[in-house]
Amino acid sequence: TIVVVGSLNMDLVVRAPRHPQPGETVIGSDFQTFPGGKGANQAVAAARLGARVHLVGRVGVDAFGHTLLATAQEHGVDTTFVQRDPTAPTGVALITIDSHGQNTIVVAPGANMQVTEADVLRAESVLATADMLLMQLECPLEVVIAAARLAHHHGVPVVLNPAPARPLPVDLLALVDFLIPNQLELQALAEGEADLRTAIRYLQQRGARNVVVTLAEAGAVLAEADQIIHEPAFEVPVVDTVAAGDAFVAAFCVASASGKSPQEAVRWGNAAGALAVTREGAQPSLPAYREVLRLLKV
Ligand code: ADP
Repeated sequence: TIVVVGSLNMDLVVRAPRHPQPGETVIGSDFQTFPGGKGANQAVAAARLGARVHLVGRVGVDAFGHTLLATAQEHGVDTTFVQRDPTAPTGVALITIDSHGQNTIVVAPGANMQVTEADVLRAESVLATADMLLMQLECPLEVVIAAARLAHHHGVPVVLNPAPARPLPVDLLALVDFLIPNQLELQALAEGEADLRTAIRYLQQRGARNVVVTLAEAGAVLAEADQIIHEPAFEVPVVDTVAAGDAFVAAFCVASASGKSPQEAVRWGNAAGALAVTREGAQPSLPAYREVLRLLKV
């Protein structure tokens, strides 16, 4: 069982010939809505990989919230601990894509920022016997810290995907068994340090334990103590890189939770990430267990 404490957002996507200037109106087209939020995406990704998954979070009492709960459940995610909050709207991401494929994104976190430590405590009986706690940074930081502390207390490993990146207190770093940033997030966590090894060392000096950095088409590195191992990416045709990171993190957790070594779990992450870039969209592009197995056996 994997417990995910994290966000649920509805992604509202519109295409436009170009991005509007302040005060300007541009006529767009092809409006679409997609279930998203890093918490929900990673929960769905883990469920598609065959794990039992509980999601802890909040949506509003509105149509988006209803749809997000229904979609997560359709994918097999247990949403018992996702509350419907009457005081805040469901989180949304307003995404505009121009004719060059460049996007601008405004996120209104809404109910995601109303998640409390009490929400996590409500799920304590499930968390206490879970194989893994997985979190991101789209919910209040104090909730992330409280959940990490509770998992640690029960001897449950903690995985943190520090996205969107922000400085992390040392006491949180010490509670995280695997920190999984992408390159940009690593740089942001390491006060702008661009060199991979120096940035990893910086985090380790501040209390981080194991660090896994995803490197897009270069795969990923695993840093345990003073050892760094590079696992190359799988070569695949690239269609849309959205959700590659979510697929990676989820597959890493599913593999670890089933007893695989960290290095083997990184290979699982690479396989799932590679499969995700061969397909469009976020949740629709997430690979199934059998597909990952097939790619790993090549
Ligand atoms: P994010 O999506 O968070 O920016 P990355 O771009 O690092 O994260 O991608 C996450 C993982 O997805 C990588 O570690 C890799 O395993 C896989 N991946 C991403 N892009 C490609 C690609 N072009 N080819 C193969 N695998 C990829």
